[in-house]
Amino acid sequence: MKRYTSMRVGGPVSYLIYPCDEEDLVTILQVAWEEGVKYRFLGNGTNIIVHDRGLREVVIRTTRMQRVAYKKKNNGAIAQVSGGASLKGFIVNSARHGLSGLERLYWIPGTIGGGIKMNAGSFGSRISDLLESVRIVDKKGKIVSYLKSEMRFGYRESRIGPSECVLAAWFCLQNRDKNEIWKDMEYVYGERKKRHPMDFPSAGSVFKSVEGKPAWKFIEKAGLKGTSVGGAMVSNKHANFIVNAGGATAQDVKLLIDKIKQEVFEQSGITLEEEVEFWGFNG
Ligand SMILES: Cc1cc2nc3c(=O)[nH]c(=O)nc-3n(C[C@H](O)[C@H](O)[C@H](O)COP(=O)(O)OP(=O)(O)OC[C@H]3O[C@@H](n4cnc5c(N)ncnc54)[C@H](O)[C@@H]3O)c2cc1C
Repeated sequence: MKRYTSMRVGGPVSYLIYPCDEEDLVTILQVAWEEGVKYRFLGNGTNIIVHDRGLREVVIRTTRMQRVAYKKKNNGAIAQVSGGASLKGFIVNSARHGLSGLERLYWIPGTIGGGIKMNAGSFGSRISDLLESVRIVDKKGKIVSYLKSEMRFGYRESRIGPSECVLAAWFCLQNRDKNEIWKDMEYVYGERKKRHPMDFPSAGSVFKSVEGKPAWKFIEKAGLKGTSVGGAMVSNKHANFIVNAGGATAQDVKLLIDKIKQEVFEQSGITLEEEVEFWGFNG
């Protein structure tokens, strides 16, 4: 799994399946349901840490489901985009059409489906902001649509459960001058480059904010910048990033996360909660 996750850790998986389209995916889920096969959905693997032992479940990777279509509406368009499409690619594509609204999410490296499940956000915007509706497939292979108001979006959460897959999403985008859109995207990219350790593998922010306060403040206060376990290190640039500084294992990352939680609790009385997901750590 180290080949399929941005942290570049994790052991083998027995089956990695790439559905080509919705029909394919529904068939896979119906078979899995009938045969009692366990599975997980993988987008771009940018928010997960997979155990060194690997995974027993089948992994269904959505990244070949890439359709994007725009339908003009009043001062903009409704964009329909597949769950496996790259969020960054979608934002770039929309910018080329002069369609605005998601610029502040530029350079989040996941897919649309992963972004919706996590309600990904940056620079004060969340993916749910301009979302109209979502089409999902449930564990029995049944297709269901939800309006945004039914999605139960919260801070890094939604109603999407582990056995449900986001097939497609609809966003309401506005017409805007292309140069202005690109200017904002470049600003966001510049800020991310300044703040984030982009030169090393990572899974982005490891911990959630605590009552609106960013987790990096607590980690920095505990003097943990640069602390390492094996090849995993608390970034010197951004304390809420753990980077794979070379040859890290999932165990290194997990031990470092536990150490951070313990030291932050001892120093600030704060219990940090992980934003990243652990796969395969519970037996
Ligand atoms: C350098 C870096 C910077 C980052 N910056 C940000 C940031 O600014 N803001 C932010 O919010 N996040 C950020 N992240 C984290 C990550 O990119 C987001 O959480 C992203 O939305 C995850 O998408 P993914 O496709 O990689 O999901 P994955 O990591 O593949 O999966 C994450 C979860 O979503 C589920 N999932 C994936 N696809 C689907 C689907 N189609 N349907 C249902 N469930 C699905 C998985 O089962 C899993 O539970 C960053 C990560 C990195 C590495």
